[in-house]
Amino acid sequence: MILLKEVTKVYEIGDNRVFALNDVNLEVETGGFLAIVGPSGSGKSTLLYTIGGLLTPTKGDVVINGVSIYRLTSKERAKFRRENVGFIFQTFELIPYLTALENVMLPLFLAGVSSDEQQRRARDVLDKVGLAKKAFHKAIELSVGEQQRVAVARGIVNNPAILLADEPTGSLDQKTGSEIMQILRELHEIDRLTIIIVTHNLRLAKLTDRIVEIIDGRVILDRYLNEGGRMFEI
Ligand code: ADP
Ligand code: MG
Repeated sequence: MILLKEVTKVYEIGDNRVFALNDVNLEVETGGFLAIVGPSGSGKSTLLYTIGGLLTPTKGDVVINGVSIYRLTSKERAKFRRENVGFIFQTFELIPYLTALENVMLPLFLAGVSSDEQQRRARDVLDKVGLAKKAFHKAIELSVGEQQRVAVARGIVNNPAILLADEPTGSLDQKTGSEIMQILRELHEIDRLTIIIVTHNLRLAKLTDRIVEIIDGRVILDRYLNEGGRMFEI
């Protein structure tokens, strides 16, 4: 369970203060699959990175499975992130001249996992995203859809409870974007991952179970979707 309690994030640039998040309260149940939507600059990325322990709020608290993550030291929080949270970025952030396998192994290498175990787990997740055959191709040789699948594999290789994705289909065409959404849905349904995606594509947002809309740093709508992708208010 993820709880945001009165979370405010203010960016100060000179005399200018931007309320990127303004008193956000949000509860995400364990195993939830939700989309954060809203116009550009509305605070979606700020919200996602605050949930993921990467951005300390100006005010308020983020509690993940009972842990107030911003009351931890930064070292403890980094460990908590490594063990509990996976990230996927719009621009993949792969290392171009490493192979798919090496890119996926990287977080495990950084966490001090043994080399055999790095290989085994990286192959496992590449298989899960349907990319086992491309394990030894360099990232730069892969199509954008394949690159994003490598990024998904890297995001889940540390076996996180929570997967956070910032515009994961933003650089992909419609068909490839839908394939990535299908993979995320399987991770949610089969592996019971809690998944939060940011998107401005309402069609893709409707492939999740819940839509949270944010404008000017405030949650203005929070709706669960039924199986036909239609909204119903709670
Ligand atoms: P979104 O992801 O919805 O486009 P962001 O969370 O990136 O929105 O940004 C929300 C607001 O905060 C915007 O007005 C943006 O300009 C501002 N902002 C984001 N990051 C920073 C930063 N590091 N420094 C200053 N202002 C920022
Ligand atoms: Mg953003």
